[in-house]
Amino acid sequence: MPNQKFQPESLMMSYGHHSGMARGAVKAPIYQVSTFTFETAEQGKDFFELAYGLREPVNGEAPGMIYSRLNNPNLEILEKRLCLWDEAEDSAVFASGMAAISTTVFEFLKPGDVLLYSSPLYGGTVHFITEVLTRFGIQVVPFYYDQQPEAILRQLKANNQAHRVAMIYIETPANPTNTLIDIEAMSALAKELSSKGRQVLTVVDNTYMGPLWQHPLQLGADLVLYSATKYIGGHSDVIAGAVLGSHELIARIKVLRTFFGSMASPYDAWLLTRSLETLKLRMEKQTRNAQRVARFLQHHPMVERVHYLGLLTESDGQQYRIYGRQCSAPGAMLAFDIRGGEKEAFTFLNNLELVKLAVSLGSTESLAEHPATMTHAGIPGGILAEMGISEKLVRLSVGVENVRDLIADIGLALEKAAEVREAEVLA
Ligand SMILES: *Cc1c(COP(=O)(O)O)cnc(C)c1O
Repeated sequence: MPNQKFQPESLMMSYGHHSGMARGAVKAPIYQVSTFTFETAEQGKDFFELAYGLREPVNGEAPGMIYSRLNNPNLEILEKRLCLWDEAEDSAVFASGMAAISTTVFEFLKPGDVLLYSSPLYGGTVHFITEVLTRFGIQVVPFYYDQQPEAILRQLKANNQAHRVAMIYIETPANPTNTLIDIEAMSALAKELSSKGRQVLTVVDNTYMGPLWQHPLQLGADLVLYSATKYIGGHSDVIAGAVLGSHELIARIKVLRTFFGSMASPYDAWLLTRSLETLKLRMEKQTRNAQRVARFLQHHPMVERVHYLGLLTESDGQQYRIYGRQCSAPGAMLAFDIRGGEKEAFTFLNNLELVKLAVSLGSTESLAEHPATMTHAGIPGGILAEMGISEKLVRLSVGVENVRDLIADIGLALEKAAEVREAEVLA
């Protein structure tokens, strides 16, 4: 854990860089280079031994720069800063969220292993798990938010899979309905499934909440993953990913990253360090805006139901209790069921002016989309319905705009949808 006397938001402007490293530059320059010179051949040998895990680092020694597929100052600074929010020992950054996910999963799974995963998951992750991992002899087993760990364990035992589980992969809150999985309970299940010399890892995709409003490592998870394309990047101008955890686990992932070549570029890493400076400001403002938008939608006659963590109440039972234990704020992602169907949903989306019609999330600008025909279009209809994704569902990622403008824009588009609905009902 970094020795920190200041809060992460105070350290985001400088941590991991000092001006002596770069001729007094207050911010780190972009090290747009592929390779680094060694002072001597002995030094080159020494750097490689550390990078390839042939020897242990001595007293927290930093790895020497070799080649930008292995390491680069911009990646290193970004990796140090990312650790602060989650109080992680180490992190690795990638060219995309999917690169972070696939490299991490491949490092810890082998043929014959079982991967237990929460459903729903991000569509790209579902495809990777069900279409790619299964080609390598890995068995994949989904579980749902309303299944208790005891029931999952019974099912694994009945199918003679319990002793082969190597990883529990969780995404919570789930995209797009915001359903929650209990990270502590699933980490406890992973411990129960572990045996001597065989550690079952709990891995959490924290993209929806992190790194601010939920800290899976503190709840018992071994690794936390991010699509840094979303809140961490936050400006819809970078695709990147990250994984955080112990020195030991991240060192293994970094070795595989070297051979997959799935690291982030120096320029993207530099853009992300710039984004981190305003991460807390952005996420706080986005959350405040989302709370206001959710309350507006909740009372609108064209809205049947709002899926937003900030609207959970005691009557939501276990979901409410998990939220209280696991998250410190409701975030800026919400979804709602519009009255009507696809036609009303599309009319709403086509009449937004300030809010942009696009996939992705967590950025400064507000975005809206239709999960059933866009982000989740690849999922079979039956499963979509099970997940609560109907043609009425619209997903919103709330940005930093003036909230009165956002509500006015959303209100006008809902009125257009109401006109279409009225015409339909009359016809
Ligand atoms: C976007 C996203 C991903 C994939 O990240 P990319 O940066 O697009 O590769 C993974 N998980 C979640 C929850 C996401 O929203």
